[in-house]
Amino acid sequence: KGPGSVNDPELESTPGMDPFTDTLQRLREAFSSGRTRSAEFRAAQLNGLSRFLRENKQLLQETLARDLHKAAFHSDISELIICQNEVDLALRSLHTWMKDEPVAKNLVTQLDSAFIRKEPFGLVLILTPWNYPLNLSLVPLVGALAAGNCVVLKPSEMSKCAERVLAEVLPRYLDQSCFAVVLGGPEKTGKLLEHEFDYIFFTGSPRVGKIVMAAAAKHLTPVTLELGGKNPCYVDDNCDPQTVANRVAFFRCFNAGQTCVAPDYVLCSPEMQARLVPALQSAITRFYGDDPQSSPDLGRIINEKHFQRLRDLLSCGRVVIGGQSDESDLYIAPTVLVDVQETEPVMQEEIFGPILPIVNVRSLGQAIDFINRREKPLALYVFSKSSQVVNQMLDRTSSGNFAGNEGFTYLTLTSLPFSGVGKSGMGRYHGKFSFDTFSHHRACLLSHSGLEMLKNIRYPPYSDCRQKL
Ligand code: NAD
Repeated sequence: KGPGSVNDPELESTPGMDPFTDTLQRLREAFSSGRTRSAEFRAAQLNGLSRFLRENKQLLQETLARDLHKAAFHSDISELIICQNEVDLALRSLHTWMKDEPVAKNLVTQLDSAFIRKEPFGLVLILTPWNYPLNLSLVPLVGALAAGNCVVLKPSEMSKCAERVLAEVLPRYLDQSCFAVVLGGPEKTGKLLEHEFDYIFFTGSPRVGKIVMAAAAKHLTPVTLELGGKNPCYVDDNCDPQTVANRVAFFRCFNAGQTCVAPDYVLCSPEMQARLVPALQSAITRFYGDDPQSSPDLGRIINEKHFQRLRDLLSCGRVVIGGQSDESDLYIAPTVLVDVQETEPVMQEEIFGPILPIVNVRSLGQAIDFINRREKPLALYVFSKSSQVVNQMLDRTSSGNFAGNEGFTYLTLTSLPFSGVGKSGMGRYHGKFSFDTFSHHRACLLSHSGLEMLKNIRYPPYSDCRQKL
């Protein structure tokens, strides 16, 4: 149990006692005091977060290695550097972001002052998954703190080491009257969601996203939902198979495939498939050697439940690369499946593992139809030397994020909003988008107390309107 955390088994087992009431009350009082609103306070929290990242770098790398077998370099590029960049940007930009934004005026308001004030919502709840447990907790946290909110963070119970570090170490770097970490699984989170928050930021599965949104609706609480789904990857005949294979294999196997924006399946012609499969084999061998299980650079599946689910998916279609698994090590080999039917489980559910099915289509048009018949994905990828093909895919489909001839490198740009669309989510964050997400944009018009003569025209009776004009 960390200093800022709520995880008291005694309270939990006491009938009628709610383990969250006191903490939430404390945070609400802190917010009401106005303490979190000043730029100085916000900067102090962000500096605390920055120190947490710098002073605990090795601990954080070890934590991610234990939870997900992440190599230190992997942890740096996918979690720690991304968090650090977000904090640094927020610290550099805080004063600009916080400034009132003047807006255009009309004739009637020429002499007034019209602007948008970015004000904090109040008490914010951030719920996070296990696959990038630090990144997906801290990046939203940067936005919430920069915007001047009090925050309850509920990390995933599945990435146990990261959960512990977030609960025990992180609060020491932040003002604990304004920040708390809450621990627990589905049941306890359900109880937490009965409480009223001013904003809920959820990252996770569409299934739980619906539970969160339903709970938020009871209090009319606004939500951001960062969800998942199946991300298509179209490979045109006009491309270099080895270049495509390198990029697709890298982004599919990154974090053992447990990435919400990973390419989930490939759409290509049978001819391209014949060239792509050996190229994928060559890329996988180059990255992870002849025995990927002994590679220090390949992640592991988070737990037995997900391992079993993935092992079952290996029986779909026909295995042409990989297919091995080892339960004692939670290892699933980088695997490519062909001859896959649309009705098979591997084409029905988000894979979230190092398995890549290939589905044949005859043309770009057929690929676009295939994609548009399904839910709008979180990410969509297209590989082609033809900019026409890339642009047609962009113009005729919809997705949260889009990349041509690349994987999810767009995540490194704080200048781009990250978001889902349709069933892959709602709301956006990263960089200034995070600050805006966690701020209410208050419309303000400050007028003069004098100049009543000018305003006279609007008052009834309107029968003498012409005379007034
Ligand atoms: P999850 O939805 O199972 O869990 C997310 C959070 O919700 C966890 O903190 C968990 O404790 C909590 N939770 C689980 N069941 C709950 C319930 N019944 N009631 C209340 N809270 C509950 O997701 P996960 O398995 O941790 O993560 C994998 C999913 O997250 C995938 O679908 C993936 O695509 C998605 N994801 C999305 C993004 C994104 O940015 N869009 C990023 C990472 C992961």
